Amino acid sequence: MKYQRSSALFVEAKQYIPGGVNSPVRAFKAVGGDPIFVKEAKGAYLYDEDGNKFIDYIASWGPLILGHAYEPVINAVIEKAKKGTSFGMPTEIETQLAKLAVSMVPNIDKIRFVNSGTEACMSAVRLARGYAGKDKIIKFSGCYHGHSDSFLIQAGSGAVTFGSPNSPGVTQGTAKDTLLANYNDLESVKALTNANKNEIAAVIIEPVAGNMGCIIPTDEFIQGLRELCTAEGILLIFDEVMTGFRLGKGGAQEALGVAADIVCFGKVIGGGLPVGAFASRADIMNQLAPDGPVYQAGTLSGNPLAMSAGLAMLTALNNNPEIFTSLAKKTKYLHNGIDEVLTEKGIAHQINRFGSMISVHFTDKPVVDFSSAAEGDNDTFKKYFHGMLNQGVYLPPSAFESYFLNDAIGYDDLDRTIAAVKTIF
Ligand SMILES: *Cc1c(COP(=O)(O)O)cnc(C)c1O
Repeated sequence: MKYQRSSALFVEAKQYIPGGVNSPVRAFKAVGGDPIFVKEAKGAYLYDEDGNKFIDYIASWGPLILGHAYEPVINAVIEKAKKGTSFGMPTEIETQLAKLAVSMVPNIDKIRFVNSGTEACMSAVRLARGYAGKDKIIKFSGCYHGHSDSFLIQAGSGAVTFGSPNSPGVTQGTAKDTLLANYNDLESVKALTNANKNEIAAVIIEPVAGNMGCIIPTDEFIQGLRELCTAEGILLIFDEVMTGFRLGKGGAQEALGVAADIVCFGKVIGGGLPVGAFASRADIMNQLAPDGPVYQAGTLSGNPLAMSAGLAMLTALNNNPEIFTSLAKKTKYLHNGIDEVLTEKGIAHQINRFGSMISVHFTDKPVVDFSSAAEGDNDTFKKYFHGMLNQGVYLPPSAFESYFLNDAIGYDDLDRTIAAVKTIF
């Protein structure tokens, strides 16, 4: 495949945009080479500026669960746009989407819309702190909750010390309120709660992790985390920006059978437009301005175009819940196919899968947390990524990302994908 036009566009982009991209992972730094520039997409396929066609396993990093340019979403946005794009005043469609989301997701009474997953998580933590009257939070190594200051924290020495920032620009003052635990390791959480009695407002977690590859929580860990939070009076925040409306109508809460106190959304809830949201029971949500003292706002929050895309998307999912089962079946088919090829070729690998999320790790040890994910062989991953790309399969350009299947992908696409793996190794 040729990527001449993409490469030329990247050179120009780098002149005006830092790194040529508006979000770092797009730049292919982890896999080498230049990113491809998309011209358009339809259903399961992406078409780049050089005329190449790819089966897409990213779906805009999750939102497009029904495939690209899904007609009910596109039509809803076009019709809405004709009536004006933003008012800064209440509109009926905000309540329609709120009502539908609340009816689909367990344990939430009210929801507030924002413009991104980052905003959702940032605001959820502020709400938790305001409600609890405590400053500290616990997050897990390798979980991503957007790029706001409190979340860009790495471990210091030992799990019980304060976190230190992993980006310049995040202050020590902010970092000291974020404590870091290990995924699937309840003891690491208990050590932190014991050392910080009555100081922790919330634990935030990706209930099925998707930002260190796909990592599944053990029942013991996730149930234990719920019990620990209840016992210690700590709010449990599920960051369902990835899993919400992807693992099922009720997201990870429903799939895992564990209740969260606050839930964050993004990605699917916006149908491909910029929407995030956070939700909880009424007594917690009523702490938000204008009813309560916890401030949170947004000029474009609840934007009518974004709401119409979200409403069309959630309506489709709510009316056709068999989509979730059929996506999970396709993902299992892909899992089995890739597994068979890699086993045959003697390539050390682990495949993690939950619903329509899946990741391939080139290691012989189970991948259960950030450090085991980091043990994957990146040279093999690069070879795999570029080999697949050159055969028209677009995978996430980093070993630390999950694939997201979309409903437009057919079994013929999956067979082509599996056949592509065969030619690489
Ligand atoms: C994508 C993601 C975010 C951030 O959402 P943005 O819309 O990129 O700001 C937060 N949490 C999780 C789990 C995500 O996958």
